[in-house]
Amino acid sequence: MSDRLTQSQDFEGGIAVAVAIVGHDARHNLVVTACNDHFFRITGGARADTRVFPVAFDTLFPDDGQLELRGKLQACFESGASHELVQAHDLPEGGRRWRLSLKPFRHASSGAAVSEILVTGIDVTAKLHLAHKLEVSTTRFRAVVDSAYDAIVTIDERRNITMFNRAAENLFGYTSAEVLGRPIETLLPEKFRARHPQHVRQFADSVQTNLRSMSPPRMDESNSVYGRHRDGTIIPVEISISKINVDGVTEFTAVIRDITDRARLIDLLKKQAVTDALTGLPNRREFLDFVDKVLGTDDIVSVFILDIDFFKKINDSHGHDVGDEVLRVLAKVGMSIPHQSKLFARWGGEEFVAALPGADAELARGISERLRQRVEQQDFEHAWRVEPIPFTVSIGVVTREAGERDVDALMRRADRALYRAKESGRNRVEAG
Ligand code: GH3
Ligand code: MG
Ligand code: MG
Repeated sequence: MSDRLTQSQDFEGGIAVAVAIVGHDARHNLVVTACNDHFFRITGGARADTRVFPVAFDTLFPDDGQLELRGKLQACFESGASHELVQAHDLPEGGRRWRLSLKPFRHASSGAAVSEILVTGIDVTAKLHLAHKLEVSTTRFRAVVDSAYDAIVTIDERRNITMFNRAAENLFGYTSAEVLGRPIETLLPEKFRARHPQHVRQFADSVQTNLRSMSPPRMDESNSVYGRHRDGTIIPVEISISKINVDGVTEFTAVIRDITDRARLIDLLKKQAVTDALTGLPNRREFLDFVDKVLGTDDIVSVFILDIDFFKKINDSHGHDVGDEVLRVLAKVGMSIPHQSKLFARWGGEEFVAALPGADAELARGISERLRQRVEQQDFEHAWRVEPIPFTVSIGVVTREAGERDVDALMRRADRALYRAKESGRNRVEAG
């Protein structure tokens, strides 16, 4: 039984509800006709000698303290309407805040006049403190999110956008007011929209271990993720997505970075890696890859190596720039070889190569011979930057033998044929 009592006292103490009845004495001074210990506490802990009811209000709140409470009590007596207020109390154990509610009640004997007011109060210090902390952390969160360089977008479990920061507004060209509540697919290129809900579902179902210990999960490991600007522009982006469970519902936050510049640079580097800078032709690496692929099939293919005759003399007599111009001319003539899916490339120096898929020995020889003649006769359109330079070329041409798969061996055979062309007087085609 005594346990029960203690429990109920603890309970009462835990709730911390202050209750008092306020009325007037004969001289019309405010008095507290009854109150509990909590009410005494909010007055600063009244001394024992004051705990004899009725207690003069001035004794509980001396020195005109709690003017607002007095004012509200007054108003309550006069109007008969309820009032509420939040009061700060400087207590020995520290400042506390109480929310007080004043409810008038009337004595039947005195008619409609309010004779007493029931004052109830609850300690809202912790609640207000919590609310303040929440406000600070929300403000901080917003500041971080809005000053982030990356776009941050949150969606709910129905894939509707619930947060859209400033960087997202800049990246996608929508204001947050325009996209909030709209499906995330709004921000995707049309061709990815239909399959996207399925991706989100799979991602939602995937197991995510400790959030702190792992890097953010990626939705697409391939890295080729694209967004869509309001004006229809496709934006290459890098994206990392985290999911959190809010009240049993999964929501996702995506951090999205515009990688347009990086994607452009990568494209440029990729292109540069396979392109000859002087002529714009594919380089040796690209050529070898190409032929290697063809040799991986059983298709027929011929290749030739072409070398400019006495090129050193051109450089020596006209200068290196003119030599470069000759190389560019030859690149242009080589590119115009009328053979489907051929690849004309710069092998290095004044040597060029061609791969002629589908061309047998006879056709390849014909193509090579025609090219040699065109160069010799200057049978091409070219606006020379200098006076036209006559030059000739020697060509070694070979055709893949049945079962031949080694690109280096094939090129060595072509080189030997070229050597023979040089040995036998230059400006000629030799087949190997
Ligand atoms: P051959 O008929 O035996 O082939 O004689 P060649 O003079 O053409 O051959 P050689 O190998 O002696 O000389 C090739 C020259 O090509 C030497 C080199 O300075 C020049 N060369 C290589 N690359 C370039 C280039 O990018 N631009 C210019 N202008 N010259 C280059
Ligand atoms: Mg050479
Ligand atoms: Mg040469």
